[in-house]
Amino acid sequence: MPPRPDALFELDALDPGAGPRTPPPAEPALPAARGLLDVREIHAEPEAAASPRGLEILARFPRARVVEVASHWRIPHLHGNEGNVARWVRVKSEVLVLGVRKTFTVRPNGRSADWIAPGLSNGCAMACAYCYVPRRKGYANPVTVFTNPGDVIGHLGRHIARQGRKREPNQCDPAAWVYDIGENGDCSADALICDNTLDLVAAFRHWPTAKASFATKFVNPALLAYDPRGRTRVRLSVMPPRDSRLLDIRTSPVPDRIAAAGDLLEAGYEVHFNLSPVVLRPGWQADWADLLRHMDDVLPAAVKAQAAAEVIMLTHNEELHEVNLGWHPRAEDVLWQPAAQETKHSQNGGTNLRYRAPVKHAAVVRLGELIAAHAPWLRVRYAF
Ligand code: SF4
Repeated sequence: MPPRPDALFELDALDPGAGPRTPPPAEPALPAARGLLDVREIHAEPEAAASPRGLEILARFPRARVVEVASHWRIPHLHGNEGNVARWVRVKSEVLVLGVRKTFTVRPNGRSADWIAPGLSNGCAMACAYCYVPRRKGYANPVTVFTNPGDVIGHLGRHIARQGRKREPNQCDPAAWVYDIGENGDCSADALICDNTLDLVAAFRHWPTAKASFATKFVNPALLAYDPRGRTRVRLSVMPPRDSRLLDIRTSPVPDRIAAAGDLLEAGYEVHFNLSPVVLRPGWQADWADLLRHMDDVLPAAVKAQAAAEVIMLTHNEELHEVNLGWHPRAEDVLWQPAAQETKHSQNGGTNLRYRAPVKHAAVVRLGELIAAHAPWLRVRYAF
């Protein structure tokens, strides 16, 4: 029996200043890179395999079996095969796809970034139970790496040149056009595979009117050597560790992500936070208050001085719900709350679930109060 919608707002933390500071529960250790990826099979378009980036990747995983495919989008035994639900996580660890990107559309956004850049990957080695990325690819969702970074960077450079200077500040950034370079994956985890993320960070160094931005749940120390010179914004995604342990499968523990903020800033990144997704369940307010207090306790003053946040309430999806029941049903105990959610048909034909407007509005207001009480330095760029 799901909790009533009003139960999601139990009076567990209405006085944010009261009560002891509960330390975040203990987390499992940071997954080593080799734990996240144990690549045994690489499905590659011939042109991708023969490219310099493709050869670099094949050399990095010399024991992987290479399977030639005509198109990175049509791999019947990987994509859309319901039998893969049982192997969901293994496929992410053991399979890579190499393809050549053919479309270079830059889409306007206006919320997280001014523009969504054509990414250099699609899919993710992590396995968050609420992730929208698999919806486009079917059940199994290993990382597809595009091996033509030069084409993407060339298109981006021309797009940036056409925009000229940003004339009006907006919430994305006061001065720079912000390009999200990681809409369909995690650039920090992708950096375990090849230098695509490095190439993008290096390109943005030299574009004074633009800034790259990507969200991540993976702490990869390799990024510290990329020398972004302030032109790349890393958005560290955070949520209460209790939710993260249940939902953020294979990611770096939340305290590790927060602990990485100071190093990333020192290395030349702008560091923001994604408070996302906000999952409503009994006790959510107390756990978010704990998380915000933890951030206030441990983040260096320099991080706080430049930080901003996006607040994104959970959007779920009917098809993903069915998939999750096949491999991680406990996640659905908190993600699937039909009494508090309403359906919305998405552009690609799926049925999304989001919190009903009054529930969502009240939660956004409440989270804003918690931020004001516990992390008043954290400017909210937008809440959605
Ligand atoms: S880290 Fe991001 S892209 Fe990867 S599974 Fe989680 S939500 Fe999806």
